[in-house]
Amino acid sequence: MTDFEGLKALVTGGASGIGRATAELLAARGAQVAVLDLDPSSVEKPLRGYRADVTDDTSVREAVAAAVTDLGGLDIVVNNAGIGAQGTVEDNADEEWQRVFDVNVLGMVRTARAALPHLRNSAHAVIVNTCSIAATAGLPQRALYSATKGAVYSLTLAMAADHVREGVRVNCVNPGTVDTPWVGRLLDSAADSAAERTALESRQPTGRLVSAAEVAGAIAYLASPLSGATTGTSLAVDGGMQGL
Ligand code: NAD
Repeated sequence: MTDFEGLKALVTGGASGIGRATAELLAARGAQVAVLDLDPSSVEKPLRGYRADVTDDTSVREAVAAAVTDLGGLDIVVNNAGIGAQGTVEDNADEEWQRVFDVNVLGMVRTARAALPHLRNSAHAVIVNTCSIAATAGLPQRALYSATKGAVYSLTLAMAADHVREGVRVNCVNPGTVDTPWVGRLLDSAADSAAERTALESRQPTGRLVSAAEVAGAIAYLASPLSGATTGTSLAVDGGMQGL
C-alpha cells in the first residue's frame, strides 16, 4: 500500500524511538520524509536529517525552511520531540519546569508556527502531536511531565479549531509505556534493570510494552487520507492502560 505517495512529511525527534519508527513507516509507504533532531547523525536514506533544537526558534525556522526547499513542499508534520521528567511538584525547581515545557510544549508551537505557512499550500495538510496517556491518566511521580502533555492535549484541540477552515487537520496520539531508547535509559538507571523491566511489563494489561512501530501506525493513520474527516481528536495507543 502506498498511502503517502507524493506527500512530504517532517518528523521532529525523528532520530530515535517513536519518531524514528514513524519516519521509517511514512517513508516505506511512499512519503518523502525530513527528520528534525538534536542529533540527526544516525538518520539514513531515504530519510533526510536536519539538525534542529526545538527550544531554539531560529534553528527550527531554518531547519523547516531547508526541509521544505529540499522536499518541494510540506503536507505532514509529526510534532514528536519530547523529554521526560520524574517527581512530584516538590521535586522539580522552576528552571526544570521551564526547561521541560520549553521542549515538550513550546517546541511543538515553534515547529507548527514555522510549518503552517507551508501546510496552507497543501491539499492534504495535517499535524499529529505526540501526547501521552500522562495528559489525562493522573500518573504518580510525573507532575511536570503530565502537565506538559496536558498542555499538548489542549493545544491539539485549540489548533484543530483554529486551522480546520484552512484545511489543516490537527490530532494527537496518546501512547502508554513504549519500548524506546528513552524507556531503556530509565530502566538502565535502576539497580536491577531486568527486574524493573519485568515489573513494568507486568503492570501492562497486555503483559508487554507498546512498540514504537505500534505508535507509528496510529500516527500514520492520523496523518493519512484515511482519517481525512478527523481533526481535534486523540488516539490512545496504550495497550489498555487507560481502561484500568
Ligand atoms: P526518545 O528519547 O527515544 O526520542 C526522542 C527524540 O527527540 C531523540 O531523538 C532526541 O534527540 C529528540 N529531541 C529531544 N529533545 C530535542 C530538542 N530539544 N530538539 C530536537 N530534538 C529533540 O523518546 P521516545 O520515547 O521516542 O519519545 C518521543 C515522544 O513520545 C516524546 O514526545 C514523548 O513524550 C512521547 N511519549 C513517549 C512514551 C514512551 O513510553 N516512550 C510514552 C508517551 C509519550
